[in-house]
Amino acid sequence: MKKFIGYITALILILGLTGSIILGPGNSFAGDMGPTLMIATPLVKMSKDSEVVIVGTGFKPGQELSILFTTADGYPSDIGYALKPEPKADAGQDSPMVEIADDDLAKCTNCKTCYQDLSELFEKTKIMVDGEPKEVSRVIPGVLNKIEITPELIHRASRVADDCDAEIIRFHQPS
Ligand code: SF4
Repeated sequence: MKKFIGYITALILILGLTGSIILGPGNSFAGDMGPTLMIATPLVKMSKDSEVVIVGTGFKPGQELSILFTTADGYPSDIGYALKPEPKADAGQDSPMVEIADDDLAKCTNCKTCYQDLSELFEKTKIMVDGEPKEVSRVIPGVLNKIEITPELIHRASRVADDCDAEIIRFHQPS
């Protein structure tokens, strides 16, 4: 049975604010804290037409999100009142073309196949595993919403998933 994995992209317009904020996993959250969340545009200038792209998994389609940020003087603030439209999980995409589950990241053997052969979609990053930094690969946050999905890209993504040394890249054929 195909496992449903929610996938969101929220485009946020920040209205009527001045200054700058930095958003990130540590100072933003969604819903009941169950889903995982990543800010694809971590540095955001506050202006009437600023946009924030949020990508995550485990959301229900249409699920409402809350955005918190920490001001320059260290105070947490909910900026929901200033966002238009209010961020919600997309309803359209059940599964991204490629994904690596957060729980699988530590299994990456850093064989380099994915981010060397398909640098459009994958990048090297560091995570902490048992208290030690480890280089692993991940899908570039938000990339699947920015890149043109061509038959050639689909073919290469499928091949890279097949060649993943740790067998952690999940490939879903786009419909
Ligand atoms: S192909 Fe698999 S094991 Fe190799 S770097 Fe990418 S995710 Fe890691």
